[in-house]
Amino acid sequence: MEEAPRFYAHPFDDDKLKEECGIFGVIGVTDASNFVALGLHALQHRGQEAGGIVCHDPELGFNSARRFGYVRDNFTSADIMETLPGPLAIGHVRYSTAGSKAAVIRDVQPFFGEFSMGGAAIAHNGNITNALALRKELIERGSIFQSSSDSECIIHLMARSLQKDIPDRMEDALRRVEGAFSVVAMTRTKLIGVRDPLGVRPLVIGKVADGWVLSSETCALDIIGAEFVREVEPGEMVVISAAKGVESRRPFRPQPSKFCIFEHVYFSRPDSIIGGQSVYETRRRIGVELAREAPVDADLVCPVPDSGTPAAIGYSQESGIPYAMGIIRNQYMGRTFIEPTEQIRNMGVRLKLNVNRALIKGKRVILVDDSVVRGTTSRKIKEMILDAGAAEVHFRIASPPTAWPCFYGVDTPQREKLLAATMSEDEMREHLNVDSLRFISLDGLYRAAGEPEGRNNACPQYCDACFSGEYPVEPSDMVAKGFQLKTAAE
Ligand code: SF4
Repeated sequence: MEEAPRFYAHPFDDDKLKEECGIFGVIGVTDASNFVALGLHALQHRGQEAGGIVCHDPELGFNSARRFGYVRDNFTSADIMETLPGPLAIGHVRYSTAGSKAAVIRDVQPFFGEFSMGGAAIAHNGNITNALALRKELIERGSIFQSSSDSECIIHLMARSLQKDIPDRMEDALRRVEGAFSVVAMTRTKLIGVRDPLGVRPLVIGKVADGWVLSSETCALDIIGAEFVREVEPGEMVVISAAKGVESRRPFRPQPSKFCIFEHVYFSRPDSIIGGQSVYETRRRIGVELAREAPVDADLVCPVPDSGTPAAIGYSQESGIPYAMGIIRNQYMGRTFIEPTEQIRNMGVRLKLNVNRALIKGKRVILVDDSVVRGTTSRKIKEMILDAGAAEVHFRIASPPTAWPCFYGVDTPQREKLLAATMSEDEMREHLNVDSLRFISLDGLYRAAGEPEGRNNACPQYCDACFSGEYPVEPSDMVAKGFQLKTAAE
């Protein structure tokens, strides 16, 4: 069994929530796999551990390639791309915890199944919250799983369906599945996209020449010159074919949408459009809201790069305090597959971020970051800023305290490892040893995300479970394992 190279997240990356997947599919263009490779490259921020492409050629049938590592290091070589011909292809990039912890190639998507009416491949972004129960049931009834991924349940549920065609079988399968899922799938002649009834994870439709595209984000449409058509709606299935174009189906009972609000804060690329809103602009508005909610006298507003940048710009614009690049990020110190020596690992955040000393010395600095997860990075950044001679350090955070884990396709530490799960805001300020620490309120975040009245507490407009502890779908597998949901008193 092929195993992943030994893989080390940089300590800086290790202190962030991580999106687990990006998905992309194309139909109706020559060499669709090349378009998919480019799309996956643009979605690389959603998963860097591995990627895969499945394609179909009318003469050669289905083919696939799955590899560990970056898209650019695998799906640019002629050796691989020449094996992936045809006008229809789907792909997946992953960073995963839903599959096995020790990454193995059999967990890398897309997954493929051969049915009596032909083959089908699926790529899934999200997390199936009843996957353990489904897997147990399916294994007891004779299914033989090839991977440890929750997504494989969908293929086995499709195999058990009595429906006559693959889209109908997918409908059957997905009605048994709970949790968050955006799916891109393909048959020999159709490209299929589905979002779960709450629409937790994104999926958009694009048009390129005579073909159609499905993508996690609009930034990946731009790279192939595709035009944004619309989002797949929560609870919608689109079946796209050369003969009939886009057909829309509604397999699920309608429910109020619960899109992941953290996509606005951090996961999506700032050049993507979500719900008609620019992600960059939403992040800038978060900074504006933060400046109104948590003003402080200071000399400079500095982002923790790169994700804190738009919010820092908004904070500066609203407060009138000058914006400055007080911390510089080394763009070339990404994740590494080479085991670093202990000495290098101890350099920690300094490998990735450096303080612009000439700017910081003697200044009262407001640092704007997107989130505080474990707090380890925030502490180190504060030390670097003070070492550089800053007079004061004030943290402003562009999301509310992250006090609950996500079970919908985002890698989160266990609850007890989340700083906000065990400390009050004041205790966190003392722990980080900064002059002040403020988080944006949930209402402020909702306003920035396009809800002028703030959060509707009776029926929140977004999923915000990692802040509020209010899970829109009960994480039943985790509850069965003993996870404590929020009590009425909390
Ligand atoms: S729990 Fe947080 S990260 Fe997960 S889907 Fe909800 S808002 Fe997004």
